Amino acid sequence: MVTRCFQCGSSTVRKLIIAENWWGDTLTLVENVPAWVCERCGEQYFDSDVIKELDKMKDRPPKARRVIKVPVYGYGQL
Ligand SMILES: [Zn+2]
Repeated sequence: MVTRCFQCGSSTVRKLIIAENWWGDTLTLVENVPAWVCERCGEQYFDSDVIKELDKMKDRPPKARRVIKVPVYGYGQL
């Protein structure tokens, strides 16, 4: 449980978020992950059991619900 943001000191709210993860070379999204999100700066914090669960999923990924395409850009590219 993280009630204060370590970055800016504002209070956090409990939210279900989409976690972005690199599992090896693969970018993955996990939906409906419970997190503490800073109301001011948006920083996200996870409880240790949530981190453990995400680690378990990383070690043995279940079948993906769906697969999406992600555009890739170079910084400063026009
Ligand atoms: Zn913050």
